[in-house]
Order: sequence, then C-alpha cells, then structure tokens
Amino acid sequence: MEPSTHRKLFRPSSAPGKEKCGHFEPTISTSPNAVRGTEIHAHLCEAIPRMFTEEKIDPSTVTTPYLRYALSILYQSGVKNITAAERLVTLNDKDGRFVTEGTVDLFGLNEDLELMVYDWKTGQERDYSAQVVLYTLALIQENGWNKAWVHEVFVDQERTYRTAITRELAEERIFKIVENVRNPREHTMNKHCDWCDLQHDCPAWLWERKKMNGIFPMKFTNARSFEDRLAIIKEDPVLLSQFMITWKRMKRHVEKTGIETYALEQMKNGTKLDGLKLAMSSHGTQYIQLE
Ligand code: SF4
Repeated sequence: MEPSTHRKLFRPSSAPGKEKCGHFEPTISTSPNAVRGTEIHAHLCEAIPRMFTEEKIDPSTVTTPYLRYALSILYQSGVKNITAAERLVTLNDKDGRFVTEGTVDLFGLNEDLELMVYDWKTGQERDYSAQVVLYTLALIQENGWNKAWVHEVFVDQERTYRTAITRELAEERIFKIVENVRNPREHTMNKHCDWCDLQHDCPAWLWERKKMNGIFPMKFTNARSFEDRLAIIKEDPVLLSQFMITWKRMKRHVEKTGIETYALEQMKNGTKLDGLKLAMSSHGTQYIQLE
C-alpha cells in the first residue's frame, strides 16, 4: 500500500501518550539507544518472517538473542500463516474518515482463523498497547475480522504481553483517543510526560513548578524557615505525599533538561563553576561534586 497523501491526525507511535493526554507530542530521540533500536527492529522485520516461513528454523539453534526470542514467540503464539510483514495500514474513524496510517511489523492467522498481530519493541519497556491495538483495528477495518490476538514483544527483556481483543473493544479504545486528540481537554500529567516535547511549557508542569517554588506557601506563614516547613510536611502524610510527588516530578523534569551533563562537559573543558569540583568515581568516570 502506498503512503496516503492525507494529513495524519497523529502518528500511531504517539497513541499511547495521546491516550493519557490529548496534547501529548512525542520527542524525537537520536540517542545511541534509539539508533540501536532502529537497527534491531529492521533486522527483526527482515529476518523473522523468512526464518519462520521459508527456512522453518528451530529457535533453539538461533544464536542472536533477540532473533531467538522473537522467533520462539511466533511458534508459541500458534500463528499458522504469516499474511504480511511490514505492511502499511490505514485507520479510519467511526464515520470512515481518514485518521492515520502506519506500518504494522507482522501479522497472520491462527488455526481458528483469528488475526495475530505482532509489534517488536527494543529498549526500555513501556506500555505501547494503544499503538498495537490501533494497528489491529486498522487491519480489522480492512478485512473484517472479529477477534484478534495482539502481541507486544519486548526483545531485550524477553517479555511478551499477549491480549485478545474484539472489534468492539478496539473501536471503543481507539476512537476515544481520536476524540481526545480532536478535542483535547485539560493537560493530564502521566507516565508518558517524560517523552513529551511540550513538557517545558505545559500548564500541568508549570503548575507543579509553581507549587514546588513556594513549597506549599498557602499552608505556612512567611515567618517559618524552609526547615520548619519541611518538619511540618514530615508530620502530615497528606502533605508528605503531595511534597514527594511534586519533588519527584521536578527532579525528573530537571534531569530531562540535561543541565547536569551540560555542566559536566563545561567543567571537563576547563570552565570553572564556583562551588563545584570534578571528582572521579571508582569506575573511573568523572562527576560533579560540591566543593
Ligand atoms: S507534558 Fe503536558 S502536554 Fe505533554 S503529556 Fe504531559 S501533561 Fe500532556
């Protein structure tokens, strides 16, 4: 299938984030891990259908761990016939209007003629189920299957999430995401925020920063010191949980800006930063310490 000329409402890979917050915009990673993931993914898409269908290779004889695991999952899942590898599929909304398109890694049929869909994943394990359910619904729309088995296959962790889904359930979940994107409501902090491009200016995160900045000023008088405020927080489980949530979110937010790595590079290059010094860990790596 040729890529369509329609404008995508969102990319299928951003469906997991869009499901939690309609404003989610994925960051594009060019890290070495992302490059490695892309290479492994391409290798899986090329090799697995051939090893399964043409060469009928026994997984126990495969030496590359990610290929061995992916191949063993195909055999265990009971797929009888691989219909296609790396197929471009199109998702329409409930009124038949174009929503998006993307490439499904692999799909086929089992003994009961049920659809079997596979999505290869590398790197850190995250919940990508909305993406693979989206592909599944696109295939269902195309071919009219009523039931499918979706497989999220994490080849690095050697873990697979396998779920049965009907057309009705897939529609309910995916059409809700489509609605979320077309009419986004308030910004909702969620576990995908770390991979969202908007985190820096997002109203939900600005509010967290504001809270942190004041350490809950509405609860305390100006006469109290920072230490007094922390003592009060420690005594109250509700305040303590609010503080810890905000504190942890802020730590992640600051880490994501890469400021520590930047400062380290500056110091390694000879820039003096008052109050800080370079130290050496037992593994021989340099890090920043307070002077
Ligand atoms: S950072 Fe903001 S816009 Fe992005 S997903 Fe989180 S809450 Fe939504």
